[in-house]
Amino acid sequence: MAPLDTGSADRAEILSVDALVRHFSKRRAHPFAKSEVIRAVDGISFDLREGETLGLVGESGCGKTTTGRLVLGIDEPTGGTVRFDGKAVSGMSAAAWRDLRRDMQMIFQDPMGALDPRMTVAAQIEEPLKIHGIGTKDERRAKVLDMLAAVGLPEPIRTRYPHELSGGQQQRVVIARALILKPRLIVCDEPVSALDVSVQAQVVNLLADLQAKFNLAYLFISHDLKVVRHLSHRVAVMYLGEIVETGPRDALFDNPLHPYTQALMSAVPVPDPEADHQRIILTGDPPSPINPPTGCRFHTRCSYAEAVCAEKAPALKTAGHDQRVACHIVDGTITPRRTAAAGG
Ligand code: SF4
Repeated sequence: MAPLDTGSADRAEILSVDALVRHFSKRRAHPFAKSEVIRAVDGISFDLREGETLGLVGESGCGKTTTGRLVLGIDEPTGGTVRFDGKAVSGMSAAAWRDLRRDMQMIFQDPMGALDPRMTVAAQIEEPLKIHGIGTKDERRAKVLDMLAAVGLPEPIRTRYPHELSGGQQQRVVIARALILKPRLIVCDEPVSALDVSVQAQVVNLLADLQAKFNLAYLFISHDLKVVRHLSHRVAVMYLGEIVETGPRDALFDNPLHPYTQALMSAVPVPDPEADHQRIILTGDPPSPINPPTGCRFHTRCSYAEAVCAEKAPALKTAGHDQRVACHIVDGTITPRRTAAAGG
């Protein structure tokens, strides 16, 4: 694994998310049905610095993708603030968002779905330049060729259509199109999970190289912890719309403190078969975000839960190696004693 510089505190902050909330009203089955609220994102805070990757992890439905959409203004928050370069972006006009798009881009999970099947590779990569009125035809062509080289695609590929490319090539075109405007922040939403295992590592290494070359900040959303460990400087763990633990990559992987993080990390394969490694199997599915459990939302699946866990929500507190953890064990309210909810 390539060593990552985790001492990035001296870099300029580019993104700041404060108490971000997104609730959705669930469509009522009939006019007299009780209205229900889906608490997709429920008061999360984090920041991101230039040239840094924050890995956002958690099970399906925990609010990771909604968070990415809120950061990029694809969806509007119910509460809280997103700041880019210190300026609040939520509620901005369409024109202001259009300008900001140059700095903030997204790479999606499904490259074929993200590309226009009727446009050639060159036309897709050039399109953002045209939309923003950048350069002459010749200048745009030169930029497209430079970008093809930057993402490791041969020049003749520019005349091809998406269906003529492999999955890895398609994702490289998506990355080239995202980078052509020289953004500073990219939200990567499961960017390699739809690719063959054989090409995943190539695309992950490409993302790392491009970050170093262009000083990009990545909000890297993924359920693949091996990839997150490879790319991230810091990691935030989400459970049912909340962040339960955040901190430097190595601290989270080597010394996870929240019982949910411990269960996630225990699922990562270790290369040494002799190593003492015990997988923690969580019982049950995550509860519904419509009626999340009271107190600590993880208490219905936590093997250490005690009565107070169902009554009082733990706050994120600093602990361990620069981690911030929301758990009554970590804040000293209870002592760890394994109960029945999950097994090791
Ligand atoms: Fe488990 Fe209680 Fe900590 Fe929640 S607060 S993670 S239920 S021990």
